Amino acid sequence: MSTETQPHPPSVEQVLAAARGLVADGTSHAALLDVARSVVDAERERLAAGGESRTAEMLGDEASIRLAGLTAPRLATAINATGVIIHTNLGRAPWPTAAIEAAVAAAGEYLLLELDRDSGRRGARFREAEDHLIALTGAEDALVTNNNAAAVALAVGLAGRGGGVIVGRGELVEIGGGVRIPEIIRRAGAKLIEVGTTNRTRAADFEPALTEGRARLVLRVHPSNFRQEGFTETPDPSALADLAHSHGAIVVDDLGSGALLPTERYGLAHEPTPTERLAAGADLVTFSGDKLVGGPQAGLIVGRAELIARIRRDPLARAMRPDKVTLAAVGATLALYRAGRAEAEIPVWRMIAATPEALRERASAIAARVDDRAEVVATEATVGGGSLPGETLPSFGVALAGRSADRLLTTLRRGSPSVIGRIEGGRVILDLRTVDPGLDAELAAAILAAVGAAVGGAAVGP
Ligand SMILES: *Cc1c(COP(=O)(O)O)cnc(C)c1O
Repeated sequence: MSTETQPHPPSVEQVLAAARGLVADGTSHAALLDVARSVVDAERERLAAGGESRTAEMLGDEASIRLAGLTAPRLATAINATGVIIHTNLGRAPWPTAAIEAAVAAAGEYLLLELDRDSGRRGARFREAEDHLIALTGAEDALVTNNNAAAVALAVGLAGRGGGVIVGRGELVEIGGGVRIPEIIRRAGAKLIEVGTTNRTRAADFEPALTEGRARLVLRVHPSNFRQEGFTETPDPSALADLAHSHGAIVVDDLGSGALLPTERYGLAHEPTPTERLAAGADLVTFSGDKLVGGPQAGLIVGRAELIARIRRDPLARAMRPDKVTLAAVGATLALYRAGRAEAEIPVWRMIAATPEALRERASAIAARVDDRAEVVATEATVGGGSLPGETLPSFGVALAGRSADRLLTTLRRGSPSVIGRIEGGRVILDLRTVDPGLDAELAAAILAAVGAAVGGAAVGP
C-alpha cells in the first residue's frame, strides 16, 4: 500500500456518535470523549503502520468495550493449592460467610456506627467486635485497629516519648515485609532497651533497667515466624510480669496470631491464647484479625481498661482505626467463636480441622479426572502467616507429571482461575488442605486445561 493513499481514521465525533447508544445510561460525556479520543489516536497509529481501515461503528464498539472494561471486576482470585493455610501473598485468611455478609450490609447501608440507639446522641463507636473480644478473653476492655502492627505501635506508645521499652534479644524480630520490632519502637517515639542474648533471656536480665527506672514498658513478642532449638531459655511470663509490675512498668504481649481455639486439639503445638497471657499478667495483648482468628485484616488489643482508654485518646489511634466494613466483619467473625461455630464456619479452622482421609478422597476424585498424569500423594501442609513455625499438618494432594514442572506451575498460575501450587521432587504438587471443597471441580478443570489433556465427552465441573 502506498503511503499517499493512507486513509484517515473516522473523526472523534463519528466514533462518539456510534458509541453513545452502546454505553450504560448515565455515562458522562467527558468519560466517553476520553476513550473515543484514545481509540481514534490508536487507530491513526494502526493505519500509519499499514493496518486496514475500520468504520466509525467498529471504533465506537471498541470504545464502549474499553469503557465497560474499566468497571469490570479485576480481582485476580486464586485457588490456593500451596498447602499454606494463612498465605500472606494470597491475602491471608479467606473470610467466613457471616463476615462477608456483615461487610456487604455495612458497606451499602447506613448503620448506627457512632449513634446511641436510645438517646439519639453520639455514642461510642460500634462496639460489637470489642464486646465479643471482652467476652472471649475475659479482658476488661478491647480495641480494634487496622492491623496488628498498628496495635503494637499504639501499645508501645504508652511508654511515652523517650520512655524505655525493654525487649529480650531473642524477640527483636522482623515480622515480614521488612517490618522490624526495633523500628516500630523507634517510630513510636520510645527508646529500645535490649536485654539478654539471642538464645537465652531470663527475667533477671530485665531487672536492672526496671530497678533503675529506665523502663516504663516490657514488650514480649511472639517469635511467630521462626523457631529456636537447642540451648534456649525465655522468661516465664508470670515471673516477668510480676517483676515489671513491682517497678510500675506495663507488660505488652504481642502474640501475632493469637489463637482463640486450642491448636493442640488439631495435633499442632500449643499456641498461646490471649486469655492465658492476660492470666499470666500481661496488661495488654495484641494479635491479628486475619491470622489464626481467621477474619479480616485488623489488630485486636485486649487488656486493662485504663490502658485501652489511654490508647483511645492517642491521636494516632484515630489514624489507625478501621472503617465500618472491617468493624462489622470482625464482629461477625468473633461472634462465630462465641456461638461455638468457629471450627465449622471459619475457613482457616475448617482447613486446619479437615481430616487426612477426607483430603485423600478429594485428591483421588480430582486425580481420576486428570487420568494418568495425576497421582495422589501424601503431603505436609502448614498453618503459615507466621504461626506455628515448623509445625505441619498431614495432608493429601495431587502430583502432576509431564512437562517441565516450572512451566506447568506457571501455566497453572496464569490460568483462569489462577491455581497456585508448589514444586517438590521435580513435580508440581497441589495440596487439597487449602482448597475449599466447593472449588474442587474448578481445580480439576484448571488442571486439565493446564496439562492440555483431552477432556473427551465427560463434563468437568460446573
Ligand atoms: C504478623 C505479626 C505482626 C503484624 O501483624 P499484622 O496484622 O500483619 O500487622 C506483629 N507481630 C507478630 C508477632 C506477628 O506475627
